[in-house]
Amino acid sequence: MSEERQRRLRQPIVAVLGHVDHGKTTLLDKIRGTTVAAKEPGQITQHVGASLVPSNVIEKVTEPLKKLIPTVKLELPGLLFIDTPGHEIFTNLRKRGGAVADLAILVVDIMEGFQPQTYEAVEILKQRKVPFIVAANKVDRIPGWRPNPDQPILISMRKQDPSVIEFMDNQIYKIMGELAKMGFDSDRFDRIKNYTRQIAIVPISAKTGEGVPELLALLAGLAQRFMKGKLKYVEGPAKGVVMEVKEEPGYGSTIDTIIYDGIIKQGDTIVVGGIEEPIVTKVRALLIPEPLQEIRATKRFRAVDEVSAAAGVKIVAPGLDKAVAGAPIYVVEREEDLEKIKEQVKKEVEEVLIETDAE
Ligand code: GDP
Repeated sequence: MSEERQRRLRQPIVAVLGHVDHGKTTLLDKIRGTTVAAKEPGQITQHVGASLVPSNVIEKVTEPLKKLIPTVKLELPGLLFIDTPGHEIFTNLRKRGGAVADLAILVVDIMEGFQPQTYEAVEILKQRKVPFIVAANKVDRIPGWRPNPDQPILISMRKQDPSVIEFMDNQIYKIMGELAKMGFDSDRFDRIKNYTRQIAIVPISAKTGEGVPELLALLAGLAQRFMKGKLKYVEGPAKGVVMEVKEEPGYGSTIDTIIYDGIIKQGDTIVVGGIEEPIVTKVRALLIPEPLQEIRATKRFRAVDEVSAAAGVKIVAPGLDKAVAGAPIYVVEREEDLEKIKEQVKKEVEEVLIETDAE
């Protein structure tokens, strides 16, 4: 933990969005698989509702890119991917998005192009001003595509027939056209001149892994170049968002949270958004998943004394059964701040509930 504190930047929180069946889950599985495969003992912390891709894994995966494109030296400790794709995170992002996601991947099926939820996702990202990258997914379904598993897409593209690349580019032009209608200038990532003004489109296959190196490199690069202010590591009281409210055998009511700022410790007083009113309670336990190799039949979680952002953690505390998914959670450091924080939480929950009613 102390080593983590010395680092200058925290992990950016990455959300994966897109139309149903366009490949969000498959992409997250691929990224998670990559992490597990490249894992070195002692370097991975498990998270609740999120997957951390540490910088050494990003380095390894993006290594083959060094010969192809200029890559930036990694200063980030890693990328934290929110694991719940689909509707759940979608509504959470809609509700608390600005607070949760620092960056997003918009997954678009390259064969199908923009669909209703794609437009919806772009609209949210635009409103919340969340920088994003487009993953033009399922390139392996382009007729005639020769798969090159886990390779950079730049290498795989060289191995395709010109007509296949022409087909791919046509599909990408259509995506560019839709983005343009929504006010975004975009291009295939290797043709981009200005990353601050243009959205990068990376052709990938979540199934074969082609293009995933570029996707990770671009995310890390974007974060490092344009978000350093936001990602400065802060030692203050934690802020987070409730992803899920869960009854957990042996623990009672718990909440799965993403902590995006500061530190939360066992025994801390917290304010959590509740159905009727803000819940003021004390953290009884902070739980993270037991590392895979150490799972024993009876234990799924391990208690830790403290957790620092960015992290996914399960919080055990009395009264959490009335917490609202999408609601904020704040650690109260000074007693005199309590009323002010309660007011703030109340206001934010009202916004969440109004937006939920509107759906
Ligand atoms: P989600 O609803 O966005 O999470 O989509 P899923 O990840 O569940 O994917 C929907 C379907 O598309 C599944 O049958 C996946 O196996 C398939 N799929 C996802 N990515 C790819 C890909 O890159 N190539 C191919 N051929 N199929 C894919």
